[in-house]
Amino acid sequence: MRQDPWLNTSVHIVESRQSRPNLPSDGCPFCVGGLEAKEPYEIKSFVNRWPAMPDDRCEVVLYTSNHDSSLAELSTSNVKKIVDLWANRTDALMSRSDVQNVLIFENRGREVGATIDHPHGQIYAFDHVPERTKKRIDNSWQPDSDSTRRFIEKDGWAAWVTYAPIYPVSIEIAPVKRIADLTTMSETDRIAFAEILRDVLQRLDRLYASKTPYMMWINQQPKKYSTGWFNIEIISPWREKDITRFIAAAEVATGEYFNPLNPEDLAKTLRSLNS
Ligand SMILES: [Zn+2]
Repeated sequence: MRQDPWLNTSVHIVESRQSRPNLPSDGCPFCVGGLEAKEPYEIKSFVNRWPAMPDDRCEVVLYTSNHDSSLAELSTSNVKKIVDLWANRTDALMSRSDVQNVLIFENRGREVGATIDHPHGQIYAFDHVPERTKKRIDNSWQPDSDSTRRFIEKDGWAAWVTYAPIYPVSIEIAPVKRIADLTTMSETDRIAFAEILRDVLQRLDRLYASKTPYMMWINQQPKKYSTGWFNIEIISPWREKDITRFIAAAEVATGEYFNPLNPEDLAKTLRSLNS
């Protein structure tokens, strides 16, 4: 890993990823009978064949054996099983002495770089705490209580549109009372989390009446921290159906962003998109 000498940006140089197939030539590797799923399964996880980091730090999570489904389309009890699997993997990876932070994430859609359409997510186990993760905890991140941008409040959980989003769609979900990570989350909270996550993702698909591309990740408390607040971030680059907003020159140059969607208006729309 390298650090830019002037900006401190961290960059992993991963040449091996260049040889990764853009699309497998012999069918979907995640469908039953495929390369990574020889036996029938409901959900499963395994070490990534094309890891971005060494030492079995990168895993793949298959949400369902149904190629055409999605996290949003699964039942609450199936999403809950995924939450349980995420918790188990977090526990196993955090018990390693060479792991400080476990990041669970998903890239859904070709627009955000997913190479395989089959519903799946990933897990990275870092040997350090990434800068952005650190910054949010150090700045005492906690749920945003502004009612103009909140669009779901249910069973001790809330979802809202963020105050200063870089991307057109930027949503956060968190428990109203602090929970550090998945491993310490109660059974009741895991169910409530599965429900609100599913609800948010369904609204996201209703927003553009389409399978909206998104990036989603879970922020959990790293080792040696005591104030981390479990939360999940979901962003979409779409500013309209099929229209991606690219982060462009002036933004890359300055680190200042120009977002065409108004967060309060988006929250209002998402509030109206309940089933
Ligand atoms: Zn498949």
